[in-house]
Amino acid sequence: MRAKLDSVATMVGNVLLPPLCRHCGNLADGDAWAPLLCRGCDAEFPIFDGAIAVGGEISRAHAFAEFEGPARRLLIDLKYAGVIRAGRVIGARMAAAPGASKILRGADLVVPVPLHWRRRWRRGHNQAAVLGRAMARERPGLLLANVLRRVRATRPQVGLPHEQRLINVGAAFRLRRHGRVRSAGATIVLVDDVVTTGATACAAAAALLAGGAREVRLYAASVSRL
Ligand SMILES: [Zn+2]
Repeated sequence: MRAKLDSVATMVGNVLLPPLCRHCGNLADGDAWAPLLCRGCDAEFPIFDGAIAVGGEISRAHAFAEFEGPARRLLIDLKYAGVIRAGRVIGARMAAAPGASKILRGADLVVPVPLHWRRRWRRGHNQAAVLGRAMARERPGLLLANVLRRVRATRPQVGLPHEQRLINVGAAFRLRRHGRVRSAGATIVLVDDVVTTGATACAAAAALLAGGAREVRLYAASVSRL
């Protein structure tokens, strides 16, 4: 009986208590981000919407936000706490960002940087795929294509210097069997949640270009400055 009352109390609480900002805990009243952020954090959202340098075979790269403050909070919630809604809102805003038109213009496919299947299985979702799906929904003509496979479970990149990162992720990606047909001749926008040196994206781009893609660009939800 007690357990039942507790669960009823929880349900009533969820209905009566309005959602709180995931960054600061105030009431989540930010128009564009409800029910995720408050107005204050919305105003402070560290939008970057500019080009970033990643090198390799990536023709151009762009980041939507800095990996800090409310952006960092939402991306961590998406990745580790399964707050899919955060990814949907960020993906939609990435598609509409004024500075991103160069990255998205003429693109055929949006390809999320894949996780190794074991990590994907443990986490239940791939954060890059959530972002990519939301972007494709906003841009008619841009198709989400899950054409890459991560064949090696690489060490997390955090804390590794750039050269080490390149070695760590080298040959980590392959095209899926159907991927060759879909990506041949295509202009592809790779999507990832956080880019630091770009080593992971460069390895993914190399696999796409080896499979016949015409051009590979990168659009990251955020850039983390070393
Ligand atoms: Zn807030």
